[in-house]
Amino acid sequence: MTNATSIPEIFGENVFDDRVMKSMLSAKVYASLKKTIDEDAPLDIGIANAVADAMKAWAIEKGATHYTHWFQPLTGVTAEKHDSFISPSPDGGAIMEFSGKNLIKGEPDASSFPSGGLRATFEARGYTAWDPTSYAFIKDKTLCIPTAFCSYGGEALDKKTPLLRSMEALSKQAMRILKLFGHDDVKYVRSEVGPEQEYFLVDEKLYNQRRDLIFTGRTLFGAMPPKGQEMDDHYFGAIKPRVAEYMADLNRELWKLGIYAKTEHNEVAPAQHELAPIFSTTNIATDHNQLTMEIMQKVARRHGLVCLLHEKPFAGVNGSGKHNNWSLSTDTGIQLLKPGDTPHENAQFLIFLCAVIKAVDDYQDLLRLAVATAGNDHRLGANEAPPAIISMFLGDELDAVLRSIENDEPYAGSEKKTLTLGVDVLPDFPRDTTDRNRTSPFAFTGNKFEFRSLGSSNSIACANIMLNAAVAESLKIYADRLEKADDFETTLNGMIKKTIKDHRRIIFNGNGYDEAWVREATEVRGLCNYRTTPDCMPHLLDEKNVRMLTSHGIYSESELRSRCDIMLENYCKTVKIEANAMVDMARKQILPAVSGYSADLAAAISAKRAVSPELPCKYETSLVARLSELADEIAEKTDKLEDAVVNLKADDIITESYSIRDNVLIAMSELRAAADEAETLTAKERWPFPTYGDLLFGVR
Ligand code: ADP
Ligand code: MG
Repeated sequence: MTNATSIPEIFGENVFDDRVMKSMLSAKVYASLKKTIDEDAPLDIGIANAVADAMKAWAIEKGATHYTHWFQPLTGVTAEKHDSFISPSPDGGAIMEFSGKNLIKGEPDASSFPSGGLRATFEARGYTAWDPTSYAFIKDKTLCIPTAFCSYGGEALDKKTPLLRSMEALSKQAMRILKLFGHDDVKYVRSEVGPEQEYFLVDEKLYNQRRDLIFTGRTLFGAMPPKGQEMDDHYFGAIKPRVAEYMADLNRELWKLGIYAKTEHNEVAPAQHELAPIFSTTNIATDHNQLTMEIMQKVARRHGLVCLLHEKPFAGVNGSGKHNNWSLSTDTGIQLLKPGDTPHENAQFLIFLCAVIKAVDDYQDLLRLAVATAGNDHRLGANEAPPAIISMFLGDELDAVLRSIENDEPYAGSEKKTLTLGVDVLPDFPRDTTDRNRTSPFAFTGNKFEFRSLGSSNSIACANIMLNAAVAESLKIYADRLEKADDFETTLNGMIKKTIKDHRRIIFNGNGYDEAWVREATEVRGLCNYRTTPDCMPHLLDEKNVRMLTSHGIYSESELRSRCDIMLENYCKTVKIEANAMVDMARKQILPAVSGYSADLAAAISAKRAVSPELPCKYETSLVARLSELADEIAEKTDKLEDAVVNLKADDIITESYSIRDNVLIAMSELRAAADEAETLTAKERWPFPTYGDLLFGVR
């Protein structure tokens, strides 16, 4: 176990971080590498060789035998192909080798990664390229080098490349605005992210008896237990000893990898928990979140547990999301989304705030589709936080300030005076510490925005790419105007007012679950309401989106097409696997159980009647009748589901996804309803797999 004094010692012990670089590299090499990391300066091979040498020495000393280019293909998980350091020596022995070339570039045979048509299999090779902005680390005796993954034509086949491009685009546009505010010393602007990660823990022995969990990560059948989450007694409740041990072990593993795991608590649903790290640069936060998800699952097994990252492992209780806390700051330490203490700082805060408001309104569709997966549809499309409609929560105080600016009206919060930008100081906004609007997909929380629509298993890359891109676009439009303005102050004032007026519709401080909100959002305000992945994904290719994303160099048009295809393919494959798993479980487990239990009951009736032929046996008789009906229904619905999968309309991937949404998913829920009823009527020892009650309350 880790004691508190040893934490600083173990923290980052498996990371080739700044401390190691400083101690192992010459001053010249270190300075040059630092310039590449911070300012994107090109890296020459001499420096790469020196860094590779140091990395090899460090890694071998720590027991590593292999290295890998660690990358994030479009599957959404991470990939690695290990090469050992060994190389033959002329005397028949082996030497440990790792050069600058090995560090900078790798060539995985990438034919099996999804490319959405970007790379034909006959030119299967893609290449991976070192991302020096994210530290290398050791995992399972392997030196992992964070890399980007591209085709030979240079098209991005991963999530990291567009993320880095989006960060660069955002920095470039934000710098233009900052120059106008006189910040000549700022070298770059970074978006920073702290992702809060939700997950479920279930007992491994129980998990192993559920084929749905094994094949799909979620339960496809299961009646509600007598107790669900209605008592609200799990949220922030005392952590059970077995879970506490898991969390301690997990923290230790994450700290060794230089991940600032900070907060842990129980979540709303039984068996649900959350982990939040301290925020960091978006690129690093993304790498770290991928690693966190991997380590969470690995450590769970050591404790006889399984960590479920699916967005909706259990129907009827809360699903798992990921809150993407996002902010902007400069290399000089200015937080651009924090209201300042002087009129000048406030004007600057307001322009960045407006850029986000405009971005979220103009690109609601991109934010929605960035988090769309078959799993997350169960949260966003259903009655659960947050809704599929993207809106923003600013809080009453900030909203009142914006209204005052928009209408030249006195601001009621202070001394009833009209706020003049560049002259007045904004009042203090109390931070939204109460977390009182948990239903908003996009909430301002004092100095950052919390984007809450991400699914627990999503890579945070996609959401941040779209967010960075959309905000870069707002800033570009502002900078284009301001740079040409004769009167900076007046132009700025006018732009802020216009943004508030034009984009007021996206701001909503009320209850996002309310049916009335859905009507108002769609019918009065004209906001998008894309409930499912097939509804939103094709909008990736809307002309306005393609234009914006290509103009900032974040995606090429063909890269966008490939992503749209891959995401829809993923959706279709996921649901098809679920449907097949259901058919399998219904035929091989549920029907035999129901039928077997009916036979037990029938045997009981015969046995009783052998004693006394007149016995009514009402209980058994009516139960046999109902179970027999249900068995027929389950059998029929199983056939129907199987047909729905076989008869999918599949002229193209969009049509196929519609067919899945409209036929397969519905057939799945019909089958489930019949099977769940049968579960409630069947003897516990006859039911072929652990129930919701076992799974949700099984970890003690
Ligand atoms: P809560 O949402 O529970 O009130 P916080 O808002 O303090 O807690 O933190 C939630 C997450 O937001 C943490 O991962 C934290 O590191 C991150 N966070 C805090 N400040 C910022 C910031 N300026 N930019 C990005 N993320 C931040
Ligand atoms: Mg939070």
